[in-house]
Order: sequence, then structure tokens, then C-alpha cells
Amino acid sequence: MLETSIAEALAAQLRGNLIARDDPGYDEARALFNGMIDRKPSMIAQCTGTADVITCVNFARENGVPLSVKGGGHGVAGKAMCDDGLVIDLSRMNGVLVDPQRRTAQVQGGATLGDLDHETQKFGLAVPAGMVSTTGVAGLTLGGGVGHLQRRFGLTVDNLLAADVVTADGSFVRASESDNPDLFWALRGGGGNFGVVTSFEFKLHEVGPEILVARIVHPFDDAKEVIQFFRDFMDRAPREIGCVCGIGRLSPRPQVPEEHHGRLAVALTAIDSRREATEENTPLQELASFGNPILSTVTPTQHTAMQSASDNAFPKGSRNYWKAHYLSSLPDEAIDTLLENTGTLPGEHTSFNFETMGGAIRDVDQSATAFPHRNARFSFGIYGAWWDESRDSEGIAWARQLHKAMEPFATGGAYVNALQGDTGDEFKVAYGDNFGRLQEIKQRYDPQGLFDAHQRLLAR
Ligand SMILES: Cc1cc2nc3c(=O)[nH]c(=O)nc-3n(C[C@H](O)[C@H](O)[C@H](O)COP(=O)(O)OP(=O)(O)OC[C@H]3O[C@@H](n4cnc5c(N)ncnc54)[C@H](O)[C@@H]3O)c2cc1C
Repeated sequence: MLETSIAEALAAQLRGNLIARDDPGYDEARALFNGMIDRKPSMIAQCTGTADVITCVNFARENGVPLSVKGGGHGVAGKAMCDDGLVIDLSRMNGVLVDPQRRTAQVQGGATLGDLDHETQKFGLAVPAGMVSTTGVAGLTLGGGVGHLQRRFGLTVDNLLAADVVTADGSFVRASESDNPDLFWALRGGGGNFGVVTSFEFKLHEVGPEILVARIVHPFDDAKEVIQFFRDFMDRAPREIGCVCGIGRLSPRPQVPEEHHGRLAVALTAIDSRREATEENTPLQELASFGNPILSTVTPTQHTAMQSASDNAFPKGSRNYWKAHYLSSLPDEAIDTLLENTGTLPGEHTSFNFETMGGAIRDVDQSATAFPHRNARFSFGIYGAWWDESRDSEGIAWARQLHKAMEPFATGGAYVNALQGDTGDEFKVAYGDNFGRLQEIKQRYDPQGLFDAHQRLLAR
């Protein structure tokens, strides 16, 4: 615990609130997306700008106080909160400034994807990013950033032009292709290991405000044929088509016949982001007309509506345990293995899915950014989620066994943003051949490990 006088000295230098353990709002301020995380920092600084961030970084370093950084609070590993230390909470720094002429957006480090889409879509522009609107731009970008637009425009990091960063020594630096290019390389997939990003500058693309969306649901009994069709369809689909194939329980909603409520099903959610796409000419119709779906629609949808359509499937506070793989192909044998090991999904929100990679992601060399998984064909994510603490061990065991069963078909790498980080060298393995360069850059920018709460890249 920190002495009261030290905390008071910090509070006096900040414009934002400094919340201590006994203060009202403490539990709300430390709550993360993953209800399994229960860390208790000494203080949470709700920074209002770069000045507060610099003050906090200097304070933590000079006083030897553990430090963590919270963007949107969605990291399942819960690294945004530390025990007995100081949290730099960026949630009040959520501004987004769009320059429609230059087609760029300046995005503060605490903005969510919803904040970003809200501002950019007013101009019919978008940054390719994730699929749940409450996710933080910062953590998502620093890990890579995958979403429905990735095959057309690349990962979120492929659209990053520059970042403003407060480094461990309290310096404020710009990272771009021309300024501190090594830091810029590391920020594009290497996580929050190198400093606090106070602002990102992104390139924008013409998207929406309406896009075509296919929502297709098949009974679980048809899973094998549906996954095979999804795989083959995405092999020939143009880059403007994004598609996720997921398995989970169907939540009760009017469009789904009652007899299917609560039952396992396979859902295909796909977009055609071309402005010229119509319900008649889109390749999504081929996807929608396959087999005997319970539900199958192709409709023009607001891009912002699409970006928040999955929010309710991932409720804040549920207990989450995630695992992930990348796959270079999806042979029938892998589908058989998956279905043999699906078992009984623990919790009503548990699901797993395949996201289609390729396209523009593959245009970038594997060593050009810290994100190394350029040649993967699919990512496979396992999202264990339940409410009751007593289900933790059953849920974790289920996720681990499904992950293990799929290992023979995996590249060996995984998406750092979908890892719990609780087993072995998970993060090291996830960075593959880029790990060594990340270590060198860490040594240069954070030799004392001020940002080690995120991941421990160097042995200490
Ligand atoms: C429901 C849900 C849906 C998701 N969907 C997607 C998706 O579609 N695509 C995708 O790519 N990922 C997705 N993710 C994963 C997501 O990218 C990661 O969870 C990411 O870490 C979230 O970022 P955050 O800022 O919300 O998290 P936080 O928990 O706040 O931060 C995660 C890590 O990043 C660090 N960090 C945060 N902000 C900064 C900053 N400004 N500077 C330096 N370090 C910082 C933190 O210290 C922490 O270690 C999803 C996660 C959830 C829970």
C-alpha cells in the first residue's frame, strides 16, 4: 500500500481524478470486461490528457510503484489492472478527430471502437478494426487488430500512420515510418510493452454508411457441411467479403424459431463492403442459399449497426477464458476433430469461431511489423464465457482440451489479443520469429520493465 502523503502529492499534480481503495467508485473503476479478474490497485488515475499520463509514468518510476495501463479494459488477460500499484486509466481520453480531406483520424488512447466508428462513419469512412464496439482501440491496435474489413484493407496496424507515446523515462515521442521507426515497428503488434500510447493516427477508407450483411444460422447437425462450404466459399471470395463462422448456443430472439432457442448452432456472419454491392449482385447470396439454414438473410445494414451487432453476445463482467490458434488451412480432418471435441459448451455465452485471414493481410511481409501471422488462412478462437465462479475449472478445462485437440492443425502461433497468458511461453510463441527484435526494442525503451504488467518480454 502507498503512503497517503505520496498519493496526495500525485493527486495534486493531476487534472483527472485519482481514485484510491476507500473512495466511492473504486470497484467500478477497477472492473474489467473479464469478470474473472479481481485485481486491486492502490490508485487509479483517470487521466484527462498527456500531461497526466507523463506525471503518472514519472511517479511510478521514481517511487518504484507497479504500473498498468487501461485502454478499453477488454483484454481477457486483465493486464490493464495491477495489484497494489498505479493504474493509468485512459477512458476519459476518448476523443476522435477526423480529417475527411486527408482521410485520417487522430484517436486518443482511451477511445473505444464505438467512439471511432461514430466519428468516422459520419463521413462514410472507416478504420478496419474489431467486431465489438466496446473494445478499446488501443489494446486492439497494439496487438494487431482483426475484423470484418481486414481482407480488404489489412489489419488495424496496417492502417496506423503514427502514434504518440509516453515512454518509460517520461519522454513524449512520436513513432512513425520516419520517427523512431523501431518503436513504430514494435507498436504494430507488439502490445503495450513500450510505453503509453496517448494518441493513434490512422488512415481511413471509404466504407458504408451501409454495407451488405449476411446473417445465416444452421443447425449444429449440419456443422461439417457448413464449415466445409464456408472454407471453400472464402477460398474464392473477393477481398471485399469478410466472413466469420462461429459455433455457440442460439440466444432467444424473434427471428429464431423457438425450438432452436438455447441449442447449439453454426452461424455465418459475412459482409460485402463494396459500395456497388447490391442484394442481387453480391456473392453473399451463394453463402446464404447453401443447405437448410434456420435463418438466412442478406440485407443492407448500417456499418455502425454491424459493428455493434455482437456486443450482447459478449457481456461485460462474465467470466472469460480464451485460447487461440492460427491455421494455414482447414482440412476436413480438422473439422472432424473440432466436432468430435466440441463437447458440452460451458456457459450460455461460450463460443468458438473461425475468422478468415488472407487478402490484404498477406500483402505485408511477415517481418514488416511485429504482428507475424501474415500467412495464416484462418484464425481459430475459443471464447469460454460463463457467469458462475463455480464453473471456472470445468470451463477452463473445456477450452484447454479443445485447443489441444486442434493443435496438430495449427501454425504454432496465436493472436496475442486472444490469449489468457496463463500457460508457459504463450506470448513468446505468439510472436514467433519477431520475438527477438521485440526484446531488443524493449531493452532500448523500457530496460527497467516499467510496463512489464503487460507482458514480460525480458527475463528479470
Ligand atoms: C468482447 C471482445 C471482443 C473482441 N473482439 C476483437 C476483435 O474483433 N478484433 C480484435 O482484434 N480483437 C478483439 N478483441 C480482443 C481485443 O483486441 C483485446 O482484448 C485488446 O487487448 C482490447 O484492448 P483494450 O484497450 O480494450 O484492453 P485493455 O484491457 O485496456 O488493454 C489491453 C492491454 O493493452 C494495454 N494498453 C491498453 N491501452 C494502452 C495504451 N493506450 N498504451 C499502451 N498500452 C495500452 C494494457 O495495458 C493491457 O495490457 C476482443 C475482446 C473482447 C473482450
